[in-house]
Amino acid sequence: MYSKKIFDYLNPIKRLGSGKYSFVFPLVFVLAIYILSEFFAYNIASDPNSVGIYIIFASVALIIYFAFRDGILGGLIATILTILYYVYIIKTRNHTGSQLQASITTTAILGGLYVLLALVIGWLKQTIDKLIERESNEKNRLQAVVQQLPVGVLITDDTGKIIQGNKQVETILGRSIRENLVAGEANIESSTHNGKAVKSTEWPIAQAFHKGKTVVGKEYALVRDDGKKIHVQISATPIKNKSGKVIAAASIINDITYQKEMEVRKDDFVNMASHELKTPLTSLKLYIDVLANNLKKTQDDRTTKTLTGIKYQTQRLQELVSDLLDVSRLQTGKLSFAKEEFAIDEVVSETLDGLKAATDGREVTFTSPKTKLPVCADKFRIYQVITNLITNAVKYSPKNSPIQVKLYKKDDSAVVSVKDLGIGIDKEQQKMVFDRLYQVSDPKEKTFPGLGMGLYISKEIIKRHKGSIWVESEKDKGSTFSFSLPLEKKSK
Ligand code: ADP
Repeated sequence: MYSKKIFDYLNPIKRLGSGKYSFVFPLVFVLAIYILSEFFAYNIASDPNSVGIYIIFASVALIIYFAFRDGILGGLIATILTILYYVYIIKTRNHTGSQLQASITTTAILGGLYVLLALVIGWLKQTIDKLIERESNEKNRLQAVVQQLPVGVLITDDTGKIIQGNKQVETILGRSIRENLVAGEANIESSTHNGKAVKSTEWPIAQAFHKGKTVVGKEYALVRDDGKKIHVQISATPIKNKSGKVIAAASIINDITYQKEMEVRKDDFVNMASHELKTPLTSLKLYIDVLANNLKKTQDDRTTKTLTGIKYQTQRLQELVSDLLDVSRLQTGKLSFAKEEFAIDEVVSETLDGLKAATDGREVTFTSPKTKLPVCADKFRIYQVITNLITNAVKYSPKNSPIQVKLYKKDDSAVVSVKDLGIGIDKEQQKMVFDRLYQVSDPKEKTFPGLGMGLYISKEIIKRHKGSIWVESEKDKGSTFSFSLPLEKKSK
């Protein structure tokens, strides 16, 4: 322990970057060496003529050592003491004449060289110190920033080992970060993503480090050691060098438990509210039917028209409430499907028949292959998807413009597409139209009524039938919305 301390004190490399330059140590040490030399030099070197060589060698070594250990100050202290020692030697050896002259000249030349040596090495050492200090200041600053960020941060080194994690990570996860944790090896038990257990290699930081993938906003549910259930949102990114090699990875962890709880409460509210709204609406529709029947006898045209309007609006309201209910069921995972086998062209035809009134007398064409395409799905839900695509085509295209509905087989799937020549959708917005409550943010489109639920519900329905839904569209030219459903085995 002590010997290590002494070694560190003497080792100039250990002192690099410390910025500490000792005055007393070089003074005492160099003085001691010269005093010892004065007593023992003649014993060490058997030949008195080589004593000079020994002294010069010792001087150079001392000057280099102290210039490297204590900068210009250390180097100059060693140099001054050396020159003084040389003067002392000249004085005490009683040199005279040409010998004295030669000794003085040598001392002067060597003195000059020693000063130069001390200055150059001392300056180099001080420059290195400054560079190291600057770098460590930057590192400290970065560390302070990371520590104080309001989100959890983890950073790995180039071997994937977590070298930095701030307090927030520990506060969020309710445990301290284990030492020697390596991305892709460490696991957090009891953590799930979309209900499935998360493997250690699936964590965003592991994906970022090992696969060079950027992961954004993945949500996880986990049970902490203290039993608290939390939700976190994690993003991670690889850090690459100029040649594109991953040299580290950084991850951000956000505690979203509160937001999740609020979301659940909001979903519960929407669920309850739409349930509560459904019952009076059904009664309202029945009363309207009764009223309409009674009115038939009076033949009062204006009242009948008004009543038809009320009936239409009530129908709209019912559809909205039913969409709301579906969205909240999807959110809470309570939407169930009654799957059966049927030929999809029948459902498309039925839907088109049912929508005759809603298509505003437009030309709606339907083409389908001669062979039946059987699928196993929830008929009502598929009907709902097709209805949504067709009503959207009507809603977002000019009056009288045609709509083409196509059914075809592609690989092992049946594809239904609905094409309109309407307002179209920007490339960037195309992906997002399937998101919950998303509506294209174009001032022109604000005029269209809607809540952005239809395509989200459609996407979720199709997803849960293992199919896919997509859009091809060009702004102002029109859109083609399509979905596919896997065909029942025997027709493949
Ligand atoms: P909304 O009730 O608003 O129609 P949807 O989920 O059905 O909700 O559609 C989401 C958004 O996608 C719409 O607000 C609209 O901007 C855009 N969209 C959907 N269908 C079409 C279409 N056929 N043509 C152009 N835009 C469409």
